Amino acid sequence: MELITYDRLFIDGGWRSPASARTIEVHSAATEEHIGTVPEATEADADAAVDAARRAFDDPAGWAAWEPARRAEAIERFAVALEERGAETARRVSLQNGMPISLAHQFEQGFPPLVLRYFSGLMTDNAQEETRPGMLGGRSRVIREPVGVVVAIVPWNVPQAITFLKLAPALASGCTVVLKPAPETVLDALLMCEAAAAAGLPKGVLNVVPGGRELGAHLVSHPRVDKVSFTGSTAAGRSIAETCGRLLRPVTLELGGKSAAIVLDDADLRTNIESFYAATLLNNGQICWLGTRVLAPRSRYAEVVDTVTGLARSLDVGDPLAPGTQMGPLVSARQRDRVESYIAKGLDDGARLTTGGGRPKNLDRGWYVEPTVFADVDNAHTIAQEEIFGPVLSVIPYSSEEEAVALANASDYGLGGSVWTADPDRGEALARRIGSGTIGINAYANDPTAPFGGVKNSGLGRELGPEGLQGYQTLKTIYLDPSTA
Ligand code: NAD
Repeated sequence: MELITYDRLFIDGGWRSPASARTIEVHSAATEEHIGTVPEATEADADAAVDAARRAFDDPAGWAAWEPARRAEAIERFAVALEERGAETARRVSLQNGMPISLAHQFEQGFPPLVLRYFSGLMTDNAQEETRPGMLGGRSRVIREPVGVVVAIVPWNVPQAITFLKLAPALASGCTVVLKPAPETVLDALLMCEAAAAAGLPKGVLNVVPGGRELGAHLVSHPRVDKVSFTGSTAAGRSIAETCGRLLRPVTLELGGKSAAIVLDDADLRTNIESFYAATLLNNGQICWLGTRVLAPRSRYAEVVDTVTGLARSLDVGDPLAPGTQMGPLVSARQRDRVESYIAKGLDDGARLTTGGGRPKNLDRGWYVEPTVFADVDNAHTIAQEEIFGPVLSVIPYSSEEEAVALANASDYGLGGSVWTADPDRGEALARRIGSGTIGINAYANDPTAPFGGVKNSGLGRELGPEGLQGYQTLKTIYLDPSTA
């Protein structure tokens, strides 16, 4: 396969030579082969990117000062340029992190232009200021302004969709951005830069610095940054929040999860099995909101264990670029080690393995782990409490709805979840009692129009929906001269 190589970085509207000769080597999750090389940005490159974003934001006639409709035209060109590169974007993501290509078309190719248009539409369709009559005789003008220079830090699991959860509202509202992709998935990020260049986004509006956690930490504490938006692990999020707390810098955090898929005693799981798969095992188990704790009623426990086990056994595991593949490899050898150590811990703790637990026999290359199901898991077990981020489900029995709610809520996390039932009203009544930022009934599909995010260790703030736009805005009040009221 031809190597994908870049020797320059996208900073200040153009491709510039990096400050050092350091590189990031990217490997295929399915073959372990070297597939590409990009420059690794240094602190000097990151400083140049922040300076470019700062200049672009502070320009009194620049991006932030443009009418929303003018920005929307540039954003539309960006969306079209992404669409032109969409199939290649999906292919690169799938190569790098093992995402099944059918999912990559949906999430990594389809979602970015959709969400760009959604947020620029919100900006153009809704007034960004209002005048309010006061109680003391005057009036107040309340204005939503862009928050400033945004540092966006994203993980490797759904790299383009997560990038655009941040970029789309930031650009639409008039912010400028420095993006740091994860080192595992930089080839899609640099293709996105090609789209930004083709779309003619003004200089400095979008800058991309590939690098690791040290570079991320440098950006988070950078003195000329106004806002940080992070998606990734809870441990990194906590450290970023500490820095932002000290600096009094606004921060949005989308972190880990250990959500519950609650199967009620009237559920017809077999009819809903595709939705159940999407809510629990999608993307090789590498999505933060997946319901990896399956809560099953004791009255139908054996049947639910059989159905979930059958689902895991039925999945087509293999080359993520093959159209029919439902489960590909994990992103890296490190991630596979981590998942395998959790499987060993589950066995040590006495959980009953019903399928999987090893590496697929027919695949001798690539970081694959078999779809794995544990039954008889205690909610206090490590595999039920910690985020595994791989294709491992735990089935936990419950005796009553009260107990199901208590078990679902006995978690340090609160990001996603689902309720499976023949009675949607019963499902919704239960969903209202779950301590989680989002939850689905007989499916889980986050929609761009509704806020997404977590409670507890799953994060702070919300992305998507009008609420997601507000994360990139700040409010200014002008008290109008009471004598002219
Ligand atoms: P990670 O936290 O190690 O890395 C994520 C990104 O942050 C990478 O770009 C990394 O280089 C950077 N980073 C790491 N430590 C940093 C620090 N101290 N300061 C600044 N930047 C830092 O996470 P990961 O293992 O690569 O990704 C998987 C995690 O992401 C999982 O825990 C998953 O649940 C979470 N995630 C959450 C969501 C969500 O929306 N809630 C979505 C996807 C993934």
